[in-house]
Amino acid sequence: PTGTDAVLTSDTHLIQSFANLHALKQDGARTAIVEASGAMVKDSEGNELIDGIGGLWCVNVGHGRPEIIDAITQQLKTLDYYSTFYNFTHPAAAALAEKVASLAPGQLNHVYFGNSGSVANDTAVRILHHYNNLRGKPQKKKILSRMGAYHGSTHMAMALTTPAYSDGWGAVEGLVTHLRAPHKYREAPELSDEEFLKLLEQDMLDTIHRIGADNICAFFAEPIQGAGGVITAPPGYHKRMREITAQHDIAYVADEVVTAWGRLGHMFASKDAFDYTPDIITTAKGLTSGYQPLSATIISSEIHEVISRPEAMFLHGMTYSGHPAAAAAGLANIAILENEGIPARVQTTGKLFENTLRGLGDMAMVGEVRGSHFMMGIEFVKDKATREEFAPDANIGGAVAQAAQQRGLIARALGNILILSPTLIMDEAMITDIGAILRDSIGEVSDSLGL
Ligand code: PLP
Repeated sequence: PTGTDAVLTSDTHLIQSFANLHALKQDGARTAIVEASGAMVKDSEGNELIDGIGGLWCVNVGHGRPEIIDAITQQLKTLDYYSTFYNFTHPAAAALAEKVASLAPGQLNHVYFGNSGSVANDTAVRILHHYNNLRGKPQKKKILSRMGAYHGSTHMAMALTTPAYSDGWGAVEGLVTHLRAPHKYREAPELSDEEFLKLLEQDMLDTIHRIGADNICAFFAEPIQGAGGVITAPPGYHKRMREITAQHDIAYVADEVVTAWGRLGHMFASKDAFDYTPDIITTAKGLTSGYQPLSATIISSEIHEVISRPEAMFLHGMTYSGHPAAAAAGLANIAILENEGIPARVQTTGKLFENTLRGLGDMAMVGEVRGSHFMMGIEFVKDKATREEFAPDANIGGAVAQAAQQRGLIARALGNILILSPTLIMDEAMITDIGAILRDSIGEVSDSLGL
């Protein structure tokens, strides 16, 4: 065997994520990525491809950075593993917690490390339940989330996620209520932004009223919904929701698994891009640019003070919490983001990327181009004027992604939406290339459909 077949000797044993396992076996149309450098990856057939999805919205500083690889290696030589259980700690985890706290907005000063975004969100729920028990509010347990959300794949994180993702599998019952998606294009295109915001506010207020603020511990929200289709709420949304939740003693958890670490032009998007400071930020992905699995649940001093009371045992722990190699990767990654001024650079290059993609809005099949900076989505529709959707299984995003890959670009399909979240080291020439490849690829698919 050659190419993909040669590297996939274990394909009958590996279970892939979010895939139709049967279809994968039948047509074998997989791509084995075998090497990566900078903004590019190479597949097992030898094709060089622009990594238009930054691994999985995570390789922010680009692939193959020697500084991060060396930091991991050095750390492993010095201290391969120790835990942060009981009274044990180690310098790498402590230093990274200090660094993360120094960059996080407001009083978000205390950090619990996990090894995935899902775990960061589960940890936030556990901490808030514990916090409410200690405050004498044990009934304050329910959680508000939103349709269109993606918060991860553990049982709790999937319950927070939009129900479409757990279809047929079920999720934790009874704990989570999903508010309306902040998705004007699909929910209420006839309304102005202000009118739509009012409607979302009312939905939040009605839901709090119905469930009772005394029973609700948290509101979870991504600054921009990612895997739900890159859905951007109307201007002022987060600030307003922050006010409402604060008035009702409901903790605001900003899921910045994707939006932090430069992707939207700032270390954290909540405060700097959207002007609100949550009670908890969860993050992962760009924290290490994907070089090591690592997440952080960053909590406010107010919550930390309660969970540090004399009578409070913190009954939460994971073997790999603050793993030395992951912490070293995080420190080296943040040093690159800072030393190279990447978030500030993204304010220019990311804006160029955004505008380049928005330029595709003139094409027949492109219903809406949305998102911000290096976090973009393109929704394909049958009819632009009426927003008529393709059938859910038409997978027009998949067809465009395939056409793009043949032209040297990896993009991610989500049904009839295409997602682009590249490394943050794109220069103008590469951004122009991506725009041209997308135009040709979308054109090829719309021509084939006679649109
Ligand atoms: N939250 C958001 C916003 C995400 O996009 C993701 C993953 O894509 C997660 C949480 C879950 O992170 P992980 O896959 O690391 O568990």
